[in-house]
Amino acid sequence: MTPGTVVVTGGAGFLGSHLCERMLTRGARVICMDNFLTGTPANVEHLFGDPCFRLVDCDLTGFVHVPGNVDMVLHFASAASPVDYLRHPIETLKVGSLGTLHALGLAKDKGARFVLASTSEVYGDPLEHPQRETYWGNVNPVGPRSVYDEAKRFAEALTTAYRHSHGVDTGIVRIFNTYGPRMRVSDGRAIPTFVGQALRGEPITVTGDGAQTRSVCYVDDTIAGVLALAESGLAGPVNIGGPDEMTMLGLAGLIRDLAGSSSPIRLIEPAADDPRIRRPDTTLAEQKLGWRPKVPVEEGLRRTIAWFAAEPAAEPVA
Ligand code: NAD
Ligand code: UDP
Repeated sequence: MTPGTVVVTGGAGFLGSHLCERMLTRGARVICMDNFLTGTPANVEHLFGDPCFRLVDCDLTGFVHVPGNVDMVLHFASAASPVDYLRHPIETLKVGSLGTLHALGLAKDKGARFVLASTSEVYGDPLEHPQRETYWGNVNPVGPRSVYDEAKRFAEALTTAYRHSHGVDTGIVRIFNTYGPRMRVSDGRAIPTFVGQALRGEPITVTGDGAQTRSVCYVDDTIAGVLALAESGLAGPVNIGGPDEMTMLGLAGLIRDLAGSSSPIRLIEPAADDPRIRRPDTTLAEQKLGWRPKVPVEEGLRRTIAWFAAEPAAEPVA
C-alpha cells in the first residue's frame, strides 16, 4: 500500500521523528507539525533535503490548516516524559484535548485515516497484570500524573466518538515504555537518565525501593507496531510494547553493566503515584497485526548507550 501524504503531529519529537523517517522510506510525502515544546528541529534536520518532507512550526491547540490532500494523520503531539508533562501540565491537557480535536477535525475534513498515540498510562497503577486492552485502568483523576493520563483517556474517548459519530477511520495504539536514539538525555525518563548517569560515572538514581516494574520496547519495534496498526483498518485500542518486564533496580544494573560503568546505584524519593507494575498483553497485536518485538533488550540498550555516548551532552529543550 502506498501511504500517500501523511501528517505526523509531534513529528520533531522522539517517536515522531522516527515515524517521519520510516514513512519517507515507504514512499510517503510527510508533513511534520510541531511546536517544539519538548521536541526539536534537530531531530528531523537530516530529512530537510528530502523534497517529500516538510516541517511546519504549528501549535496543535490552535486552528490547524493543511492545504491539499492528506491520507493519514498520525497524532503524536504531546509531552510524554513525566518530568516534561509535570513542567507543562496545562499544555499537556490542551494538546491531549484541543490538539486531538483539531487533528481529528483535519482527518475528518480530508477523509484521512487517523491514528492516536495513546499510552499504557491509561491503565494507571494497574490492578490487572499483564494489561489487556479490555482493562479499564486505575487512574487518580486529581493526582500529579492525571494531566497526562486523563488527557490521553479523553483523547481515546474523542477518537472513538469521531469514529462513531463522524465515520472517521480511526485507530488507537496504546504504547508502552519505548526507548532508543533521540530521547533527550535530560528528559527525566528512566532509560536516558540511567544511561547519562552511567556514562558520566555519576550515581544512578532509582526512585523508591526500585521494585517497581516496566516492560521496555526498542523504538524500531514500537514504530513497526504503530505502522502495522496505521496500515490496517483496525480501530483498536491495541497494545504495543515489550515483553521484558524488569524492576527499575534491575534495569539500572543492566545499563550500568552494558555501559561498562562503575556508577553506584542510589535510591531516591519515590515518585508520586508511580505505577508499581506494567506489562502489556500483546496477544491482539500478534494475532491481528502479526506484530511482535524483535530487538532483545540488551541489544536495544547497547544501541541506545552507543548513541548517547556519541551525542553531545544534554540539551534542555523547554
Ligand atoms: P516527545 O516529547 O519526544 O515528543 C512529543 C512531541 O510533541 C514534541 O516534539 C513536542 O514538541 C510536540 N508537541 C507537544 N505539544 C505540542 C503542540 N501543542 N503542538 C504541536 N506539537 C506539540 O515524546 P515521545 O516520547 O516522542 O512521545 C510521542 C507520543 O507518543 C506522545 O503522544 C506520547 O504520549 C506517546 N507515547 C510515547 C511513549 C514512549 O515511551 N515514548 C509511550 C506511550 C505513549
Ligand atoms: N525512575 C527512576 N529514576 C529516574 C527516573 C525514573 O527510578 O531517574 C523510575 C520512575 O519512578 C518509574 C520508572 O523509573 O518507576 C519508569 O519511569 P519513566 O519516567 O521512564 O516512565 P513512566 O513512569 O512514565 O512509565
